[in-house]
Amino acid sequence: MPRRPAAPLATTGEILRLIRTGEAVTRADLGRVTGLSRPAVQLRVGELIDRGLVVERTDAPSTGGRPPVRLEFNAAGGVVLVAALGAGRTRVALCDLAGEELAGRRFHIDVEEGPEVVLPLLMDTWEELLGDRPRSMVRGVGMGVPATVEFAEGRTESARVMASWTGVVIPPIIRARFDVPVLVDNDVNVLAVGEHRGAYPDVADLVFVKISTRIGAGIVSGGEILRGALGAAGEIGHVPVRDGGGVLCRCGNIDCVDSVASGTALLRELRAAGRDVKSIEDVTALIRAGDAETMAIVREAGRRIGEVIAGAVNILNPSVVVLGGDVAETFGPLVSSIREVVYRRSTALATRRLRIEASRLGPQAGIAGCALMVIDHVLSPEAVDDHTH
Ligand SMILES: [Zn+2]
Repeated sequence: MPRRPAAPLATTGEILRLIRTGEAVTRADLGRVTGLSRPAVQLRVGELIDRGLVVERTDAPSTGGRPPVRLEFNAAGGVVLVAALGAGRTRVALCDLAGEELAGRRFHIDVEEGPEVVLPLLMDTWEELLGDRPRSMVRGVGMGVPATVEFAEGRTESARVMASWTGVVIPPIIRARFDVPVLVDNDVNVLAVGEHRGAYPDVADLVFVKISTRIGAGIVSGGEILRGALGAAGEIGHVPVRDGGGVLCRCGNIDCVDSVASGTALLRELRAAGRDVKSIEDVTALIRAGDAETMAIVREAGRRIGEVIAGAVNILNPSVVVLGGDVAETFGPLVSSIREVVYRRSTALATRRLRIEASRLGPQAGIAGCALMVIDHVLSPEAVDDHTH
């Protein structure tokens, strides 16, 4: 689609975009960039100020003359409600319009309890976090869930963890209490968005691999999250591995990398080997103690995950692969064998400038990603103009 020319049709939403990106910071700039008349600029800026999205700042007087009034995006002009649901850990937060967390809670919710239990709990928590703030400040809701999500509808499909959530359309349930735009994406996509914008804003192509109870990937391609036709892009957990031993995966296939190398698979293998392990933390303790059998099992899992990531690297040619999730965060030997295999098995061209990094934001990437997803939507020129008319 050809890009819409900014002049002379620049709308209020377009004016906000120019101020947010810093492309134009005074009324005179806006007139120059858009070709709008002075009264037309004034009208649109006035509207943004009334809506709390822009504030005026006066710089210290320069030598002689009146200092120009600078226009700034007002991150304090609203809040977004976010929730990053994981199989093991869930974070709920209130963020400003720059995506900064203002208040938050962490939970160990069993998401398997289903939407009728979990969603009211999230909404009650948002109410509590809002406190005395007027509800009119709420501009949108952003959620990440551990399931494949048909993004446009917010419908969860083939839930990897949350069987009771399959087919649930989340936005209308939330909108019954918070009547604002509600965006839902899968947990790994929001982690990828958060990590990309927070730690690698100048990188166009990045793959975020979450290694936790489950394995999945979020793909940033050309600076944008790649969702695929229905939102199922990045499901690398269901790529089969060679010589997996015939493990049946919950998706119905045999020897998916998820079924042989995820946190869940590692716990199963260690138990089969007679180890008393109940959680990822128990495995971490064995690794720290240098237990040889545990190290061998974990390295083997890393090798298998590495082979799948090498395939993704050959197809997507990212400049950064980020390894996140609690297993990647705490299993050193797993990460080193992933690195080794990816560098060995990807083509020389694809790895020439490839960096494989640990997540810098950790679980906070989920909150940041949910917030940015919904902020980008509600502050897009289209959404801002839609509100106007
Ligand atoms: Zn599978």
